[in-house]
Amino acid sequence: MTHIYTRFILADEINKELNQAFIRRVIESGGTIIFPTETVYGIGGDALNPKAVKAIYEAKGRPSDNPLILHISKKNDVYKYAKNISVHALRLMRVFWPGPLTLIFEKKDIVPKETTGGLNTVAIRYPNHPVAKKIIRIANTPLAAPSANISGKPSSTTFKHVCADLDGRVNIIIDGGDSPIGIESTVVDMTTKVPVILRPGFI
Ligand code: AMP
Ligand code: MG
Repeated sequence: MTHIYTRFILADEINKELNQAFIRRVIESGGTIIFPTETVYGIGGDALNPKAVKAIYEAKGRPSDNPLILHISKKNDVYKYAKNISVHALRLMRVFWPGPLTLIFEKKDIVPKETTGGLNTVAIRYPNHPVAKKIIRIANTPLAAPSANISGKPSSTTFKHVCADLDGRVNIIIDGGDSPIGIESTVVDMTTKVPVILRPGFI
């Protein structure tokens, strides 16, 4: 892929108006931003914009049929992107959100097929990391954010590892220290009568 100029921003400096404006502009234009979450670092982009989703896959060098997780910054946003949310799901959200739990729902039309790997379902997570929450709020849109590593390599949990893999492949990298958990989120399918754990994770 062509070289992208990567700008580095310290997590402590995302409250600066100039940085927030820059982050918002990058997201709005379909660009990519790497940020820490409590599980691993993610390569984020506007989950509702196919151009951003394409840029994420390109940065990772990953095949585009692998569905992405929508990261939201308030619980009620789940209703904007998902249909038929069960009482079981509401209970799980009450106990584990924000946190390392990803839930699969039927998707609403606003979520493009590019994001879900062609599926009619959508994966949603509300992360519990102050920097991740802040970035999603600044973006003002859900962020698709698969792990910040080149496809096939281990998921990055440190700023150093992120830079080694992806400097020159994304627009922004946030330096937010180490990811406290370091293990992927648990994925649970809520579209079946009995919920099914699709991927074991921290929970
Ligand atoms: P991650 O690599 O942590 O971003 O997680 C992405 C993983 O979440 C995918 O590889 C799938 O295992 C799972 N996933 C995401 N969206 C869906 C979906 N709509 N249906 C089933 N699994 C999904
Ligand atoms: Mg990964």
